[in-house]
Amino acid sequence: MPFQEYHPLPFGITRIDTAMVHEELAACYLMEAGDECAIIETGTHNTVPIILALLEQKGIAPSAVKYVIPTHVHLDHAGGVGGLMQALPGATLLIHPRGARHMIDPSKLKAGATAVYGEAKFVEIYGDVIPVDEGRVRVMQDGDSVLLADRELRFYDTPGHARHHFCVYDPLSKGIFTGDTFGLSYPVLTTDKGPFILPTTTPVQFEPEALKTSIQRLLDLQPERIYLAHYDMVENPQPLGERLIPMVDDYVALAKQVAANNDPDDLQEALEVAMGEYLFGKAREHGVTLSEAELGKILGMDIRLNCQGLAFWLQHA
Ligand SMILES: [Zn+2]
Repeated sequence: MPFQEYHPLPFGITRIDTAMVHEELAACYLMEAGDECAIIETGTHNTVPIILALLEQKGIAPSAVKYVIPTHVHLDHAGGVGGLMQALPGATLLIHPRGARHMIDPSKLKAGATAVYGEAKFVEIYGDVIPVDEGRVRVMQDGDSVLLADRELRFYDTPGHARHHFCVYDPLSKGIFTGDTFGLSYPVLTTDKGPFILPTTTPVQFEPEALKTSIQRLLDLQPERIYLAHYDMVENPQPLGERLIPMVDDYVALAKQVAANNDPDDLQEALEVAMGEYLFGKAREHGVTLSEAELGKILGMDIRLNCQGLAFWLQHA
């Protein structure tokens, strides 16, 4: 399907491309129910005008947005929260208990991303991160739910990718907004075997056992579809989850083996080589026929981040 900035999905949901780095890398979602709306995931601060333009296109008043719901506070999911909350006067921010303070005072998030990318690249990718007034923040505990008009949304604590991560179950569509817990699946890697899924182990809170437990917990809800931030709605997630869980073990085995055979100074580079071989091999098994160079363009950033997360985990586990 040709690229669409706004892509309508069933059950009153619209997928929005966040325009981060390149097309079809990161998505956020508009959910409509009765005369109320929610924004699930926000993209970056640069995504805010894209979301507001969709509301205008649909004739939705900014005051009709009741909730802004990032699954966790990594900036590709929550970087737009502050700017959105300014533009949406009736909205409450729903956030994981461990994420709330970073939304009220984003200085640590900003400093962390600036340290990784440098000031110029930070501004290019993320724009800015704006604080949210504490009075507009509501913490969602495991098992909590809210109503959007008469539509229930249920929140599940899902550590493993990050300790500040929840997933949002939507009983109406039997769908789950999985953030990064259920891994990544880029549409361009989908073959006749279905979507190509891989775990994401971004630093600094990767916890393999917790991640596997969280994925299984999502599968136990028997969802018929999941809404990935990276990227798109995917149907029939059961077999994907069954592929994803052993891949977490594969990552861990790969990381331990590379660490045992390499000098600590060479760890990151050696991990990236091994992770590249592993993921490209998996993609080939899955029937992906893109060239090495094209695969590198699509997975290169994730390979780097995954290895940074694994290296951090190895050093702190
Ligand atoms: Zn993340």
